[in-house]
Amino acid sequence: MKFLKKLSVVAVSSILTTGFAQAAEPTPEDWFNAGRQTVVDALHLHPVKKHAKNVILFIGDGMGISTITASRIYDGQQKGGHGEENSLSFERFPYLALSKTYSVDQQTPDSAPTMTAMVTGVKTIGDSLSVNQLVAHSEPNAGVVNTNKLTTILEQAKSEGLSVGIVSTARITHATPAATYAHTANRDWEGDSDRPAGATVPDIASQLVDFNINGGIDVALGGGRTRFIPNTITDPEYGVAGKRKDGRNLTTDWTSKHSNAQYVWNKAQFDAIDPKSTDHLLGLFEPSHVHYEADRVAHDKSGEPSLTEMTAKALEILKKNKNGYFLMVEGGRIDHAHHSGNAFRALTDTQQLAAAVQAAVNTTDPEETLIIVTADHSHVFTIGGYPQRGNPILGLTKGVGANTPDLDMLGLPYTTLNYANGTGYTGASNAQPAGSKSFNAANGAWASGSEGHNPTSYTAATGRPLLNAAKVEGSDYLQEAIIPLTAETHAAEDVAIFAKGPKAYLFHGIVEQNVIYHVMAEALGFAKHNEVEDHDDEAHHNK
Ligand SMILES: [Zn+2]
Repeated sequence: MKFLKKLSVVAVSSILTTGFAQAAEPTPEDWFNAGRQTVVDALHLHPVKKHAKNVILFIGDGMGISTITASRIYDGQQKGGHGEENSLSFERFPYLALSKTYSVDQQTPDSAPTMTAMVTGVKTIGDSLSVNQLVAHSEPNAGVVNTNKLTTILEQAKSEGLSVGIVSTARITHATPAATYAHTANRDWEGDSDRPAGATVPDIASQLVDFNINGGIDVALGGGRTRFIPNTITDPEYGVAGKRKDGRNLTTDWTSKHSNAQYVWNKAQFDAIDPKSTDHLLGLFEPSHVHYEADRVAHDKSGEPSLTEMTAKALEILKKNKNGYFLMVEGGRIDHAHHSGNAFRALTDTQQLAAAVQAAVNTTDPEETLIIVTADHSHVFTIGGYPQRGNPILGLTKGVGANTPDLDMLGLPYTTLNYANGTGYTGASNAQPAGSKSFNAANGAWASGSEGHNPTSYTAATGRPLLNAAKVEGSDYLQEAIIPLTAETHAAEDVAIFAKGPKAYLFHGIVEQNVIYHVMAEALGFAKHNEVEDHDDEAHHNK
C-alpha cells in the first residue's frame, strides 16, 4: 500500500465519483488508495488569498444536510450507480464550514432573518428583511425602518461600481431574494396590497424596481408577477388579475426607468434576450413561484427557463462589467417541496441547484470568483432504517442481503426517507408501544411507567398504512410524518457552507450564519478592518 501508482488511483477516484454500475467494484486496495488520494489532493490545495472580483452566493432554501445526502444518492442512482459514492457539483468544493442558523428571537428560523444575516452581517428577528432587531415586527413606519435598515452586500457591491443580480425559483419578492435589496419588518408585504392600511414602508416589489443605487439592479429573474402588475390588468399567461392597488405597472416602470432594459415573462422572450445589448433584465415567469423543476417542462403553459438557464443568462449580462459583480441564486422551492412533505421534488430541485452551480463553475475563473453554496435553514427530513447499499433512496428500506423490505413492529414495510412532522401523517394510532409511558392531555403529565424505549409490541388496527414500492417511489408520494401538521416545518440544526475561489479558505469550523456576509465583504475588499481588533501581527503586516 505504500507505493501508490498515480494512474490507478485516478481510476479509482473516477469510479468513486461516477458510480460502480459502469465500473468494477472497488477492491479493498482501491478504497485505501482513493482515501489516500483525497489527502494528497488536500496537500496541494492552495488558498486563493487575493481579493475576489466577483461573488456568487447560491442558497438552497431549506437545503439541510440530509437533503444534500439524499439528493446526492438520488442523483447518483439516476446516473446508474449505487448513489452513495456520487457527489453533487458543490460537494467537490475545497472549503466547508457549518452555519448556525438561529435568529435573534427564533431557535428554528424562517428565511427572512437568515438571509438578512447572510447579506448584512447582522442577525435580526423573525420575518424581518435587512432591518435590525430594534425594529418591531410589522413596523409600518417608513422612518423607523429607514433609521434601522442594514446595508446589504448587494447594495455595497452596487455602490462600489459592480453589477448585481438576483435569481430565484421563488417569487422574486419572497424572503430570500428580497433580503438582498429590500428593507421591511414583514416579509409578507410583497406587494402594496399586502400591507395594512396606513403603512408607509414601501412594498417589496416596488423596492426592487425603485432600487436607486448606481442605475438600479441589473438582473432580476424569478416568479411573482402579480405583485408587479395593477389589479386593472390581467396576467398574460393565466388571465388572473394583478394585485397592485396603487395603479403602478412595475414591469413597465422597470423598462422606462433603466437603460437598455428588458422585461420578459416566458421562455421564448428569455431565450431571445441578447446579453450584449441588454443591461437591465427583469424576468417574471409565473404569477407566483415558478414551477418545480420536475414539473417545469410538462406543466408550464408558456414555457419558463430552468434555474441553470437563468443563472447562465444572468452571468452573461453581469460579467460585462469589468469591475465585477455580485449574484445571488436561490433554489427556492426545495423548501416548498419539503413543506408539502414531498421528498421527490425537494431532491430534484436540489439536483437543479447543483446544475446551476456547475454552470457557474464552468463559466467563471476560480482565481477571481468566490462561489458560496449554503442553505438558510434545514428541514425535519431524515434518512433512516438500515437500507443496503444502492437501495433506491425513495424506496422501501431493504436491509443488507434482503430481497424483501424490512418490516416494522406492525409487520409493515417503511421508507428510508421520512419527516418528523407535516402532511405525511397517516392517521391517529391509539396503539402506542407497550411499555411506554402514556400522556395525559388533561394535566399535561406523563403517567408513571417504564420508559418508552424498546417497545415490545404494537397493535396494528389504526397504525401505519401498507406501503408498496411503486407508491413510495412515485413523484407525488408524501413520506410518512410522526406529527400531523398542515405544513412540514423547518429544522434548527446547522447547515453546511461550501466555498471555492478567493478567500474561500476563510470558511472553517462552525460559524454564526452572519459570518457569511463578512467573508464576502472581506473577499470583495469592503471590510472595515479598523472596526474589529486583529490579534495577528502578521495579518497587520499583510494588509
Ligand atoms: Zn420554508
